[in-house]
Amino acid sequence: SEQTNDVVVIGGGGAGFSAALEAAEAGKSVVILEKMPTVGGNTLISGGEMNAPNNWVQQALGITDDSAELYYQDTMKGGDNLGQPEIVKILSENALASAEWLRDEVKVEFLSDHLFQFGGHSRKRALIPVGHTGAELIKKLKTKAEVLGVTIKTNMKAEKLLTDDSGKVVGVEASTNGQKVTFHANKGVIIATGGFGSNIEMRKKYNPALDESYMSTDTPGTTGDGIIMAQAINADITNMENIQTYPICDPVTGVISLVADSRFDGAILINQGGTRFVEELERRDVISKAILAQEGRYAYQFWNQEIADIGKTIEVHQDEYDQLVKEGMLYKADTIEDAANFFKVDVKTLKETISKVNAYAKTGKDLDYNHRGGLVSLEKGPYYIQKAVPSVHHTMGGLVIDTKAHVLSTEGKVIPGLYAAGEVTGVVHGTNRLGGNAISDIITFGRIAGQEVAK
Ligand code: ADP
Repeated sequence: SEQTNDVVVIGGGGAGFSAALEAAEAGKSVVILEKMPTVGGNTLISGGEMNAPNNWVQQALGITDDSAELYYQDTMKGGDNLGQPEIVKILSENALASAEWLRDEVKVEFLSDHLFQFGGHSRKRALIPVGHTGAELIKKLKTKAEVLGVTIKTNMKAEKLLTDDSGKVVGVEASTNGQKVTFHANKGVIIATGGFGSNIEMRKKYNPALDESYMSTDTPGTTGDGIIMAQAINADITNMENIQTYPICDPVTGVISLVADSRFDGAILINQGGTRFVEELERRDVISKAILAQEGRYAYQFWNQEIADIGKTIEVHQDEYDQLVKEGMLYKADTIEDAANFFKVDVKTLKETISKVNAYAKTGKDLDYNHRGGLVSLEKGPYYIQKAVPSVHHTMGGLVIDTKAHVLSTEGKVIPGLYAAGEVTGVVHGTNRLGGNAISDIITFGRIAGQEVAK
C-alpha cells in the first residue's frame, strides 16, 4: 500500500517525537514509523534527566553561576574535544529553551527541588522528570502528538530511503508483518532511529573490543538501521568507534541501574578488596575502565540511608530494587560488617575506607579522589551495597548533520530532503557522552529537524 504525508519521521523515541511535534505545529501532516510494538525507544527506559544551564530549579536552589558557555566547555571536554564545536554550541545555547518547551508546551513535569550533577559536569544542572525516568517524557510527547494529529504507526519498520532522479529523498519503504508499505514525503524524511548498541555485529565492526562479552542497556530496536539506510544513499558517518558503556549496570541482565543514581547524591564505589578506586563523579568511560581494571571486572556501590533519602532512588525505582535484591545483587545491611560479609568484601579494609570518607566529608576535601560533589558521611546505617558491571549504553558515532539537522553526504554536501536527530547522529558527543546530555541533544536537534523540514 501507499500513503502520502508532508513529513515522514523514522523512529518514535524522544528525537522522533520532538521533530514530529515541531513539523505538525508548523501545519504539516506527519507520520511516525516505529518498528517496535510500542513507541519510546531508549528515551523511555532512560533516567530521563536533562541538562539545561541556568534552569529554573538551579535558580530555586540558589545556583546562579552556571552558563551556556560553561556547559559548552564541559560537553566539549567530556568528549575529548571531538564533538563538532558549532553543533555543541547549538546544543548548549538551546538546551534551556528545549527544557522550557518540554515544560510549557509538552507539559512534562520536572522535580522542582532536586537536580543531578552527572559525571563531567562542573555544575548541578540536570533536571529530573517526575518518576525519574523517560516515561514521563514519552507519555507527554505522545499525548501532544495525538492532539496535533500526528499519525503513529507501530510495528512499522523502515527499510529503505526512496530518492528521485535528482537525489532528493522523497519517501520511505517500510514493512509491517511482511507487508510492504510505501510512505511518500512531500517535504522530507527525518531519521531518528537511535543508536546501534544492541547490534553486536555492528559494534564489533567499528570497535572490536565491544563484543558479546558486554551486555547492553539498550532496547532491542537499537540496531543502527538509520545509519545503514542513509549510508546506502551516500550519507557520511563519523566517530563510530566511540561506544560508551554505562558503569553501573545489573551484572545479571545488563540493565542500567537507576537505583544506583544514589551515586549522584554521594554513594561511593569500592572493589572486592574494599577500597575506592576512582572518583565517583568521573566520566562514564573513565569509571567503566576503572571498574574493568579491578579484580573480577566488577565493582560495588555503597551508600547509607541518609544518601538514599536525598534522591529517594529506591522508592522511585522500587521494581528495579526488588529485582536486584531477588537476584542477590543488592543487599540492605544494618552494619558495615553485615554489608561486607554479604559479598565477601574485606571488612577491615572497607571500614578503613569508610572512616576516610567520613573524615573527608567533614573537611569537604576528598584527599584520595577529589570528589567534585563533596563526599557524604557514611557514619550512620543502615547501608546498601550493590554489585555492578559496565554495559554498552550509548553509541556516540553516527550520521553527520549540519546545524540545521540536514544529513551530509560523504562529499560534505546536504542530501536534499533528509534530516537526522538524536542518537543516530555522530557529531555531538565526541568520544564520550556526558550524563544528562542525551535528552538535551535529542530534544534540541529533534526540534530543529522538525522546524527545518517544515520550511
Ligand atoms: P533517540 O534518543 O535518538 O530518540 P531512541 O532510542 O529513544 O533514540 O528512539 C529510537 C526509536 O527508533 C526506537 O523506538 C526504535 O525502535 C526506532 N527504530 C529503530 N530503527 C527503526 C526502523 N528501521 N524503523 C522504524 N523505527 C525504528
